[in-house]
Amino acid sequence: MTHPVEGMLLPVTHDLGAFQVRRALPARGLTMVGPFCFVDQFGPGTLDIGLGMDVRPHPHIGLSTVTYLFEGSIDHRDSLGNFATISPGAVNLMTAGKGIVHSERSPQSERDKGAPMYGMQTWLALPDGKEEMDPSFEQVMPDKLPIIEAKGVKARVIMGTLWGATAATTCHAPTIYADIVLDAGGAIPIDAEADERALMLVGGSAEISGEAMELYALYVLRPGEIGTLLSKTGGRVMLMGGVDFPTGRRVWWNFVSSRQDRIDQAVRDWTEGRFPTVPNDPESIPLPETPLTNSDPL
Ligand code: MN
Repeated sequence: MTHPVEGMLLPVTHDLGAFQVRRALPARGLTMVGPFCFVDQFGPGTLDIGLGMDVRPHPHIGLSTVTYLFEGSIDHRDSLGNFATISPGAVNLMTAGKGIVHSERSPQSERDKGAPMYGMQTWLALPDGKEEMDPSFEQVMPDKLPIIEAKGVKARVIMGTLWGATAATTCHAPTIYADIVLDAGGAIPIDAEADERALMLVGGSAEISGEAMELYALYVLRPGEIGTLLSKTGGRVMLMGGVDFPTGRRVWWNFVSSRQDRIDQAVRDWTEGRFPTVPNDPESIPLPETPLTNSDPL
């Protein structure tokens, strides 16, 4: 039997003072794990009282954003008119398709007490034939995300089917995503049904089939190999992956597409004001000259 870890990627870390944001994907040499084409982990940290997170309205195309929090809460507003406050244990899935604009801001109640910042934001590329679908938004509450209890482990299925349980979250392409909390001595098998899989330790300590995991690194698993996740002292691990896309995706700023000319069109549309606006949130983020996220596997 081959060891299930195929490779390990260290994230790029940005220090925002009160907390850090770590970008594991896209990485040099690896742009996707299943539909996941962007993986950000942030925190843990706490903003000073009176401060908040303010991601002003900005556009997306060609992807779904998946927001999942360990601590804190965030207000979501989008150009479809949706407003939702996400809290730990729920998932927000916003599908951009042909285009959406949204903002993410700390609720006032969080600013008043010092906002905890600890969670994940990932992007899922939309598959061929669905890149230009109509935009949509859903919030799936914790009671629709099954919890698997194994020996010293509670694992929440956020997307797809894992350990025989299926999350209610919409999947536009076959996807797996789970939040695995291990007590000291806890262990759980990582099966091999998804084409592509990766693990990230986001707190405490853990090992995958005997290999100690580094905090916040992305461990890409070898297709078809079953592994065992174990923690001696307690830890928290995210499992993500899904179908192997037959076509590549370009990520440029907030835009994802299989076609460069579609990204170019989205750039013009945002610059020239052709995206829809977000009700009750008139600000916007201008197009950057050089975006932080720019991967070109095409
Ligand atoms: Mn966004």
